[in-house]
Amino acid sequence: MSIRRPLIAGNWKMNGRVADGAWAQRFRDSLTANGTDILVCPPATLLHLFQGLFAGSPVALGAQDCSPEPDGAYTGDVSAGMLKDLGCSHVIVGHSERRDGHGEGDDLVRRKAGAALREGLTPIICIGEQLKDREAGIAIETVLAQLAGSLPEASADDVVIAYEPVWAIGTGRSAGPDEAQEMHAAIRAAWPGDGAGRLRILYGGSVKPENVAALMACPDIDGALVGGASLDPHVFARLVNLSS
Ligand code: PEP
Repeated sequence: MSIRRPLIAGNWKMNGRVADGAWAQRFRDSLTANGTDILVCPPATLLHLFQGLFAGSPVALGAQDCSPEPDGAYTGDVSAGMLKDLGCSHVIVGHSERRDGHGEGDDLVRRKAGAALREGLTPIICIGEQLKDREAGIAIETVLAQLAGSLPEASADDVVIAYEPVWAIGTGRSAGPDEAQEMHAAIRAAWPGDGAGRLRILYGGSVKPENVAALMACPDIDGALVGGASLDPHVFARLVNLSS
């Protein structure tokens, strides 16, 4: 039995409307208690609504990004303190869609993760190689360099790492369990300082009910960051129910 509790996190990306509030009740009704920590990260516009809908349930609330700065003159940004105020316990930072689509680099990701920690939020720090890196045989060194650049000073208990190979995100092509396990073991071995055995490392990239059990059976895979399959309440609940 692992010392690490499994964590399944749903990343809705830029999807969802207020009318989707019924999602929460359908999801809650389809869950069976299995000792897995459950997190839903809707867009910022729905955090307040979902805070109320998840109250008193085992489902925790997370955000998809935060500013590296505290409150102030940063038009359009959302601070970690604001997310905490809305009941978030976690925030995703460094997702590849922000790294690639918004030019975010390791240094900014590290500062965002640090801002989250200062507010008592757990940052889910995303790292992952492009297809060209894997084809060139440099996947592990690429990911470990991202890890080193994106990590603020933190205890292994206070952060979550999400390994998300970019070529597997939203493509339907997941990494195989052996491929993912190899990377997760390398990430754990590279953790600076002590506590590596307590570090939770999620896999992300086309996780669905059909492949979650095989991934979760790997010794260094502690959960999943799920995009597309988290949008349907019944599919996501099935995935969570199959994860341990
Ligand atoms: C993600 O959004 O982090 C993700 C892994 O997406 P998908 O599950 O759709 O590949």
